[in-house]
Amino acid sequence: MPAETTAALLRALIRERFAGRIALVSSFGAESAVLLHMLATIDPALPVIFLDTGKLFPETLAYRDALVARLALTDVRAARPDAAALAAADPAGRLWESDPDRCCGVRKVAPLARALAPFDAWISGRKRFQDGSRAGLEAVEFGTDWRIKINPLAQWSAADIAAYLGRHDLPLHPLVAAGYRSIGCAPCTRPVRPDEAPRAGRWDGHAKTECGIHRTPLFSERAPA
Ligand code: SF4
Repeated sequence: MPAETTAALLRALIRERFAGRIALVSSFGAESAVLLHMLATIDPALPVIFLDTGKLFPETLAYRDALVARLALTDVRAARPDAAALAAADPAGRLWESDPDRCCGVRKVAPLARALAPFDAWISGRKRFQDGSRAGLEAVEFGTDWRIKINPLAQWSAADIAAYLGRHDLPLHPLVAAGYRSIGCAPCTRPVRPDEAPRAGRWDGHAKTECGIHRTPLFSERAPA
């Protein structure tokens, strides 16, 4: 899909169909600058939800700050784990080793559910090419929670992403040069080889391939055992 078509779709959704009721959820990861730049040209005050899990690479936090300044974004909201739930579920901070699903539940899924409460729709940066499980990704998804999720880059290729980043002279996440093509929490992300899918480095050694935020409806963290 040409960038102009994607931008026109987003402009209609943000300024008209869901005006005041839509947010972008961004990881400030390897390819996040595309949507952040596109949305900044439409409305730099659009709410941007950033899941600050407490386990991110310091490079991601620095990249977030640099992009926010460069794009003049004015409403970036950090969604963080509930302190009491986190202390109960992960007192040693190593839950990712033994139960990554539960760790993602308390550090990502529940905070996002709270952050999305005021909104009727949200925008995600997922793409079909990222791995096989996303090959059938649709541009629009309807959750059983009645919230609509827009995946405006679903049909974009890696080449489309690279071309957009280059055309607008957007900075790359500093870990991209080290071979990271999909960047999540530090304990659960490794760089990938050129012959691997971009997300092959996520939760390596576990059957897990998604953190859970893209299941609908969003649910609260499991009660501590
Ligand atoms: S990606 Fe890893 S560290 Fe981050 S919330 Fe999920 S299991 Fe925990």
